[in-house]
Formats: sequence, structure tokens, C-alpha cells
Amino acid sequence: MPDNVANQIAAGEVVQRPASVVKELLENSIDAKSTEITLIIKNSGKILIQVIDNGIGMSSSDASICFERHTTSKIKSAKDLFNIRSKGFRGEALASIAAVSHVELITRQSNNDLGKIIKIQGNKIVENKSTVSKIGTSIMVKNLFYNIPARRNFLKSDNVELKHIINEFHRTSIAHPEIKFIFNNNDSELFNLPKSNLRKRIVNIFGAKSNEKLVPVNEETDILKINGFVFKPEYSKKSRGEQFFFVNNRFIRSPYLNHSVNSAFEGLIDLKYNPSYFLFMEVDPKSIDINIHPTKTEIKFDDEHSIYAILRSSIKHGLGQFNIAPILDFSHDKSMEVPYSYRNKKEIRGVGIDVNENYNPFDNNTIKLSKNIYIDLEMDKNRVIDNDSLDSIEEDSKVNTLDFSNDGNFESNSVYQLNNKYLVNKIKSGIIIVNQNRAHQRILYEKFLKFITIDGSKPQKLLHPLEINLAIQEVEILVSYKKQLKLSGFIFKKISSSDLLFEAIPTFLDPTRVESYIQDLLDNIKDDISDKNFSQSDLTAKLMSKSLAIKNGKKLLKDEQEFIINSLFACKEPAVSPFNKNIYYTITFEELEKKFL
Ligand code: ADP
Ligand code: MG
Repeated sequence: MPDNVANQIAAGEVVQRPASVVKELLENSIDAKSTEITLIIKNSGKILIQVIDNGIGMSSSDASICFERHTTSKIKSAKDLFNIRSKGFRGEALASIAAVSHVELITRQSNNDLGKIIKIQGNKIVENKSTVSKIGTSIMVKNLFYNIPARRNFLKSDNVELKHIINEFHRTSIAHPEIKFIFNNNDSELFNLPKSNLRKRIVNIFGAKSNEKLVPVNEETDILKINGFVFKPEYSKKSRGEQFFFVNNRFIRSPYLNHSVNSAFEGLIDLKYNPSYFLFMEVDPKSIDINIHPTKTEIKFDDEHSIYAILRSSIKHGLGQFNIAPILDFSHDKSMEVPYSYRNKKEIRGVGIDVNENYNPFDNNTIKLSKNIYIDLEMDKNRVIDNDSLDSIEEDSKVNTLDFSNDGNFESNSVYQLNNKYLVNKIKSGIIIVNQNRAHQRILYEKFLKFITIDGSKPQKLLHPLEINLAIQEVEILVSYKKQLKLSGFIFKKISSSDLLFEAIPTFLDPTRVESYIQDLLDNIKDDISDKNFSQSDLTAKLMSKSLAIKNGKKLLKDEQEFIINSLFACKEPAVSPFNKNIYYTITFEELEKKFL
């Protein structure tokens, strides 16, 4: 088999996307004992990935062969494989990368006055000469997959690829707080992380707010040493959140260990929420097999049951030490104190962001007075549902395309909520079962889209502008959505690389919830939603609707249930959610009859 073919096949294993290149280059720089590493990318790595380090560099002969397969300076004998502490040890990464891109290497060791510059295209050295350079190594990887169009076309949108790169960058930089990292994307600085300790590194990456969320976890036994942090239970997220396991300082994925962490949080958070954690485990390298997957993120422990148990108990212990349990004793839910009559007030126009701040982990069916689901975006007070306005809404609902709108359509008093998730309603031809979350997403989505594309929302100016501290890359994300957010009513400016100042917010939003709303919005943006090529206006409307919609699992009052049903069928497209999922399901009497034949 010709070398370049073998290399391309190997590349398929090692290099799946720009983020894989980032991972390999960063690991090589760490192995080279660098104390400062800069990552530069253009167009999420599709055009350029460059890593510059101040490590030991390569001799000129090593530089000329490092792109050949199985040239690793890190293994002297097969026995070393089991004791390996460095990141890479297969001698495959650079060869694989060079097989699918244009590479330029500049490197110098401290005992040489001059460095080397080597350019490689299609696995062939096209330039190799001496050059003036700094001590250390710079590797530029350009035009990834230029020679494999199928792979290049397979790459996702810039947003998604960037997200993968940021994930890799998080993993590497969290594992090495002793190294300074800088990360630039398209000439804007996403991260600038000074040399520090683990706690500060986490705070520098995830924002100043994360400091108060951290609970230390420490344990030392004969077979396992654990240190790191978990987030306090109340900061658990519906999305996967920040979850990092490192074994012998190498990032790994482990559903099994994740399960152990979840079990330590049992009783403190709802099963639907995921704890965040940054956990470092040290074990004897001989007792694990990390080489079962080419990208080396999976692991097999000899004694996994013990590891599971030790991990679980050390987290429980950590949470107990910090008196987390008593804090979580919300025996009364403040929202229950809102007088019933409040619901009928005409000026109600809050939007519920279902953050878990009032959420009682010991009661899965917490009833909240969810006045907030009434969305009065148009400031039309009649939209607040009371019995009088039901008529006008039924009027509206006739524009929908459903065939069961003939006469009385819905029997508005017969809505029934099933399992805190489905709204069941009798219709003329049978029954309809509506998913409450998706229905509300649709309702909100159409409203937002109208605002963003036609009307513009009237912002409410804040008496006291609100400063929100975020992670640097989160600020960048919001700034990139600035125009659409402004049309939706959010007016803000960037006051530092990690702070935004909100001067106005949409009228329907409760000012005290802006921060949690923004956080929710960011989570959704990060959660791959942007994986489609939506227009940015459409995407913003989608994200906002997802963030603000009432969630499944929430008990709704009768008139809230009716509000959802009626508003849904006033929508242009009541059948599918903004994310193209079915909103409802109907069972006709005919179908029922057949069941009883
Ligand atoms: P591995 O890391 O598995 O040894 P790679 O293909 O990633 O294999 O790298 C090949 C070799 O190139 C390494 O063993 C190392 O000697 C050298 N090398 C790669 N990157 C650097 C760097 N940033 N600084 C110094 N040497 C490097
Ligand atoms: Mg390597």
C-alpha cells in the first residue's frame, strides 16, 4: 500500500474534524513542556489551525521526519506503553494531519541559533530550510481535507465546528492550569488564560460567577486519588452542562463514572438535571486500558466497581462538607404564596423562564403559579385569557388549517393535563393530545419571528442598567447575535471582554430573570441548535422560543392549559414545533371504534 494511502486511512481515524487537529497539536505542545501555548484558528479551523508553543522544539533531523508515520520520540520500548504519562505515543498524529492538509512547521531548540521551516503538501516535503525563529514550535495546518472533498463537505457549520474546538480547548486547558493558553478565532480573542490553579482556571473559562458554584472534592485511597470540583446541586442544568473527567490528567468519557456522579447527587437534584463536574482521578497506569479507541477518550478500569463506589462517596462527602443538603431544604415554595386572584390581573405580562431557582428537588410535582406563561407580547391586555376573551381567540383559531375547526372546535373547558406534559382536549372528530412544551415553543416562535422580521419589539428601558458577567466566548456569542437581539428588545453593550451592560430588555421579560434567561439562551446556542443553516433571525426566534417555553413536567392551571391550546391553534403552523417536531397527535372516533371491534 502506498504510504500516502495508508496515511489517509490513518487520518480518517485520527482526524475527524478541525477539533481533532486542535487536540493533537495542543497535546504535542504540552508534551514538549511548553509553558505558553497559543491557538489561532480561521473559520473554525476549516481554513487555518495554528498552534504556537514555547516548548523544547525539534532538532532539524527530527523536524524532517516527524511527519512520517510511527515516528514518535516518546516510546523506547513496548513496555513503555503501559507507563506512558505523556499525551500522544502512537506517532500517528502529525502524519495523519499532513495527509489531509497543507502543513507548515517552524521549530527551534534552545541550543540552536537557527530554526527550521518545513512545508508539506500531500505528505511530501516541498520546502525545508533554516530560518530565524523563536524557541519552540509553530505548526500551521491549512485547508483541512482539501484532498478529500467528501470529508470537507461533511464538516458542519462554522458554529458547530467552533463549538467542538472550544470543547477540546476546554478539556486541554482545564487539565493544565499551569500552562498559559491563548485562543484566537478570526482575529478575536476567545480566551486568554493566565497560568493559575484549577479553581482559577475554571473561573477564567466559565466566568466569575462559577467561583461560588464550586464545591471541592478530594479523596485518597490505595487504588484511586480524586481531586477537583463539582457544581453545587442548584446549578445543575437541563443540558449536559460542564462535565469533565480526567484520568491521569487525560480527558476521558465514561458513562459509567457519570452514572456514579449522578448517583451522588441523588435526592438533591431532579433526575432530568445534570450536575456539572471537573474531576481528576489518578490511578496506577497499569490498572487501566486507555488505548481502546484511536482518539483515546475512552477507558477501561481493572476494578471499575471500586472506582464507582469511591467516586460516589467522595462526592457525597464533598457535598455534605459544604452543607449543601440543608440549603436545599426548600420546604416552602415562594411562588405558592402568590394570591390566586393575581392570575386574573390584566397587567400580567411576564414570561416564564423555567429556571430552577424556586425548584424543590424533593417534590417533582411542585405546583407553581405559572402566571408567567401568559405572553402579552403585543401589550394587548385582552390577550390575557379570561373567559371573555376565549371567544375572540376561537375566532382567531379559525384561520388554522385543521379540519376540526368547523364549529365549536375545542370544548374549552374540557382540557385535561396528563402527566404534567400533555394537554388532552376533546375535538369534534375525536381527541387531540398536545405536547405542552412544543406547543408553547410554536406560539412564542411565531411571535418572536414577527417581532424580529416585521415589528421590532418595544424595549423596556431599565432604570438601572444591568451588568452581566459572562465567559469571554459567551460575550462573543451574544455580540454576534446583537442585531437580532436588539429587534427582540435586548439592548446591550460590551463593557469589557467578559461583561455586557443591558440597557433595555423586552417588555414581556421580568427584569429579575434576565440573567437566567440569558444563561438559558446561551446553553441553547451551545447545544447544537445552530447546526442547521437557518437565517440568523429565524435562529434567534427559535432559540428564544426554546429558552422561554414552559417545560414539560410543569403542572399547569386550567386556564393556562386553555391558553396554550387556544394560542396554538391561532398559529400559522400549529402542527410542528420550530424544531420540526410533532406538536400534537389526534385520535378520531373512527379509530377508536376500530379498537373496540
Ligand atoms: P506522538 O505525539 O504520538 O509522538 P505525533 O505525530 O503527534 O506523535 O508527533 C510526532 C513527534 O513530533 C513527537 O513524538 C515529537 O517528537 C515531535 N513533535 C510534535 N509536535 C511537537 C512540538 N510542538 N514540540 C516538539 N516536538 C514536537
Ligand atoms: Mg502527538
